[in-house]
Amino acid sequence: MPPAELTETAPRPLSVLTEDEKLFQSSVRQFARERIRPHVRAMDEAGAFRKDLIEQFFAMGLMGIEIPEEYGGQGGSFFQAILAVEEISAVDPSAGVIVDVQNTICNNALLRWATPAQKAMYLPRLAENTVAAYALSEASSGSDAFAMATRAEDCGGHFLLNGRKMWITNAAEAGFFLLFANAKPEAGYRGVTAFLIERGFPGFSVGKKEDKLGLRASSTCELILDNCRVPRENVMGEVGQGYKVAIETLNEGRIAIGAQMIGLARAALDHATAYARERKQFGRAIGEFQGVQFELARMATEIEAARLLVYNAARLRDAHLPFLTEAAMAKYYSSEIAEKAASKAIEVHGGVGITKDYPVEKLYRDAKIGRIYEGTSNIQLLTIAKKLLGK
Ligand SMILES: Cc1cc2nc3c(=O)[nH]c(=O)nc-3n(C[C@H](O)[C@H](O)[C@H](O)COP(=O)(O)OP(=O)(O)OC[C@H]3O[C@@H](n4cnc5c(N)ncnc54)[C@H](O)[C@@H]3O)c2cc1C
Repeated sequence: MPPAELTETAPRPLSVLTEDEKLFQSSVRQFARERIRPHVRAMDEAGAFRKDLIEQFFAMGLMGIEIPEEYGGQGGSFFQAILAVEEISAVDPSAGVIVDVQNTICNNALLRWATPAQKAMYLPRLAENTVAAYALSEASSGSDAFAMATRAEDCGGHFLLNGRKMWITNAAEAGFFLLFANAKPEAGYRGVTAFLIERGFPGFSVGKKEDKLGLRASSTCELILDNCRVPRENVMGEVGQGYKVAIETLNEGRIAIGAQMIGLARAALDHATAYARERKQFGRAIGEFQGVQFELARMATEIEAARLLVYNAARLRDAHLPFLTEAAMAKYYSSEIAEKAASKAIEVHGGVGITKDYPVEKLYRDAKIGRIYEGTSNIQLLTIAKKLLGK
């Protein structure tokens, strides 16, 4: 029987993309394979991301996917941002997280919370040439993010910020920071406030860059606020509403971490499948052994399940339907299966899998962070359990 026509009213299978989405996906896939792939290994070894590649991200419109055209962006959907993160991460998860933080966290937060003047000031830059970073975590406040020690003193026309942020992705390259500080510590989390900070603001500096196990080409740095002077008009949302900005932004951002992880897992499966076809033992390709076939089949099934979770959460978000639990499940499950897929891909490769001559050891190192940032696996499970128990 020929496939039925997809009509406006018929439910669309989650993995079937619109024509626009297909075009977008294939252009990002081609870009990632042709332009990013040749540099992946050298960037991992150097622990630094090429500036010219970031310029190409901007030129391709990949840093302003959801920003409306009137601000110089692509006017695309959140789902397209998810597709971009998946495709890029299938080539390099470090490249994926740069695009992820820019689009699904920083641009996304401004589109939702910024005033018209703030949008006019910053969105064109974010679409054109300015890398963004999201600064919530500190040394003593990670999962318990709103216990932050960074303070914002209200001085009338401006605020003075003091403290240190830690683990800030994109910080080495960023010109713009969405940063959270507490302006009313006596009010607890209801004092947390979101500030829009330019790299050149007095009293702001980027500190130590971490030397990491994986995602090595993506910068992760400390930020130092030493009487950093931030104009009052750079408060985003109300003073004391920053916790809402942070939570709502992370709820969406974690769908994109799911996308990063399915991209990574897909790469692990592709490498494992190719190797299983070519490697011979006992006079046969190892892919002819049922033990190896079953590993590949399990990986493929788990990746498909994770993709459906990620795509569904993204589609719910674009449809303005509740997606909190679905996003937590997508991030939790994708990061679990990505680590497993990368580990299994190494096993399928045997000894060479743990050498740097093959790409799977890097995927294994890159996978580890998926269960940690934007809410650890335990924090995702807490979110899911709260829904189950009606809390
Ligand atoms: C490479 C990298 C990039 C990052 N990028 C950013 C960024 O751009 N911006 C930003 O703001 N932050 C960023 N982070 C910080 C990241 O979000 C935190 O590391 C993460 O939220 C965990 O916080 P923590 O490291 O303090 O761990 P902790 O909160 O100390 O957690 C330690 C362990 O305790 C568990 N735990 C904690 N509380 C509970 C609980 N209530 N119930 C059960 N278990 C619990 C955790 O699951 C974890 O296993 C990044 C981190 C890394 C490593």
